[in-house]
Amino acid sequence: MKLEEQVRFVRGIGPKKAELLQKLGIVTLEDAIQCYPRGYEDRTHIVPIAHLADGEKQCIHAVVGAQPKTAHIRKGMDVTRCTVYDTSGSIPLRFFNNRYAAAALEVGKEYAFYGKVQAEGRAFVMLAPEFEPVGADNKTGRIVPIYPLTAGLHQKDLYRVTEAALQAVPADYPDFLPEKIRKPQGLPPLAEALAHIHRPQNMEQAQQARHRMVFEELFLLSCGMRLLRSRRAGQSGVQLRDLSLHAFYRALPFSLTAAQQRAIEACTMDIAAGKPLSRLIQGDVGSGKTMVAAALCYLAARNGRQAVIMAPTELLAQQHIQTMQPLFEKLGISCGLLTGSMGARQKRETLQAMESGEIAIVIATHAVLSDNVSFHDLAVAVVDEQHRFGVSQRASLTAKGENVHLLVMSATPIPRTLALLIYGDLDVSIIDELPPGRQKIKTYAVGEKTRPRIDRFIDNQCAEGGQVYVVCPLVEDSELTDTARNSAESTAERLSRILPHRTVGLVHGRTKAAERERIMADFAAGNIDILVSTTVIEVGVNVPNATLMVVENGDCFGLSQLHQLRGRVGRGKRQSFCIFYGADKGEEARERLRTLVQTSDGFAIAQKDLEMRGAGDFFGTRQHGLPPMKMADLAGDTRLLEQAQQAANVLLADDPDCSNAPLLRAKVQKLFDQCGDGGLN
Ligand code: ADP
Ligand code: MG
Repeated sequence: MKLEEQVRFVRGIGPKKAELLQKLGIVTLEDAIQCYPRGYEDRTHIVPIAHLADGEKQCIHAVVGAQPKTAHIRKGMDVTRCTVYDTSGSIPLRFFNNRYAAAALEVGKEYAFYGKVQAEGRAFVMLAPEFEPVGADNKTGRIVPIYPLTAGLHQKDLYRVTEAALQAVPADYPDFLPEKIRKPQGLPPLAEALAHIHRPQNMEQAQQARHRMVFEELFLLSCGMRLLRSRRAGQSGVQLRDLSLHAFYRALPFSLTAAQQRAIEACTMDIAAGKPLSRLIQGDVGSGKTMVAAALCYLAARNGRQAVIMAPTELLAQQHIQTMQPLFEKLGISCGLLTGSMGARQKRETLQAMESGEIAIVIATHAVLSDNVSFHDLAVAVVDEQHRFGVSQRASLTAKGENVHLLVMSATPIPRTLALLIYGDLDVSIIDELPPGRQKIKTYAVGEKTRPRIDRFIDNQCAEGGQVYVVCPLVEDSELTDTARNSAESTAERLSRILPHRTVGLVHGRTKAAERERIMADFAAGNIDILVSTTVIEVGVNVPNATLMVVENGDCFGLSQLHQLRGRVGRGKRQSFCIFYGADKGEEARERLRTLVQTSDGFAIAQKDLEMRGAGDFFGTRQHGLPPMKMADLAGDTRLLEQAQQAANVLLADDPDCSNAPLLRAKVQKLFDQCGDGGLN
């Protein structure tokens, strides 16, 4: 067979199995060969019966001692027993509903058995072993690949199709990894790696093959991101001739930090150089990223062009417009808001004003991405809290104009290697300085027995004129298994009861947008003392008068998320506090929370979070815009990731659009197609 042929033509695979295989993404033999084992069973070690270990699958060579006996246990269940021995001892075998075993095993003959060994009383028994005559070496004596399955498929099906696929690999199968990348890394060529990953002769081969596949994956990804970047770099950006920011600086109520100024300068230098700006602003919560965005928007408006800031939630869009509108009004620049929940008439008016250019600066949610939204002359696009948006959404925002300058702001510090990947198409500025006068937030991890004291502390903060956030993981008691009383609703109810002289507000995911907005506005205006909420307030919300953040069930959140939450306080001049419940939930919970007590460096926390939970959980359900990883573990394979990135840089430095390696280019394209990105074209 040929690699392009469909697996349904493989012997033993019919249309039914083919359909199941399709669920695993396997249609052709070529697909099959890219379905790698998720693990291996090493059946090469023959264990003397006397040395068998409890609970593991092991291989023995043993002689059948007596005729196997089958007993009918109950309806539909026959058990066949048979004792086998080697020079070290003997062990009973047990088969279930296996007539074949009962008939095939011959007394006095030696077989290789492979099965799970289990203790029963003082003795061991081997359960449902696979077997074959010694020397056959089909099921034993080798390393057996274990494939991912779906209901209705068996290992032997996957074995069949991968076997057919391996046979179909031609001797001159081309390797899309150029030799000059592969050689220095000591990676096996593709055909060899494929043979070894599917049918390793020893575990070292399997390991080497996996190493190549992981490298390959990370390398493709790195190349893709670099191609995205160099493609933009080859274009010219919108010309903004007047880059003077004096008036903007004068209109600000404070002077910018050195880090903010550096970030703004880096942007204006890119623009002055005629490049399209593609820059990520990474900075800890509260570092003042918004002002960098505002400066860029101002420049667009000053040059008679338009700018847009896209925020991930309505709440944030609202907050941005509240801070920007007064600022830009002073400068004689018109601002508008565009969100999904706007009334039809208002929306129509806004859309018209955007199209005519009447509105210079638009603050929006992703509603701005829809097809019916267009700008008169978009020059600057800002994406706030970007990793909630995908790579493709970035692209569709900049597509609203020509050669638009792009600024991305990430509120979640992420470890460097990951940042290089996810934002590999961007230049990076880091804001590593907080506005002056901020005090360190005093952080405590506490358990239940401290609750009465914390309740009094909440009251005290209010008495001193501060405000309090209380964050709970879930909406209703019914969603919690153990500590039901900590849910948002019951917490709000409890606090109003024990602190009747304080106003308590409640916001959760099911609160209607308008209602939520009203409550948030009330809290911002100081009419609510204590705001109880689920994580809807997580990102970006800014109430400088809030001095205390209490998080219930702190052990249920990721570290980065907790750090984000903590960033909601400490935005004013007063000493702020953060209290995490959950320190009494075991050693792991305590260690996690301790990290937060000890450090306020968002990058260090992110690194710790990544190490403790792995990349999948790190991002949670959030979209990070990357193609799915098959082999690589973004948290664990960081060294390899760095090597892959370096290799990609070297290769593309000589050949920026990868035209000398068309196979590689096609492969990268395919990877990015998978994430629905259309990314490279
Ligand atoms: P983030 O980086 O988390 O988006 P923001 O841009 O929301 O932070 O800024 C947090 C707060 O700090 C806002 O109230 C903002 O007005 C204020 N701020 C920003 N820059 C400065 C500065 N240079 N001096 C004083 N306050 C500042
Ligand atoms: Mg922000």
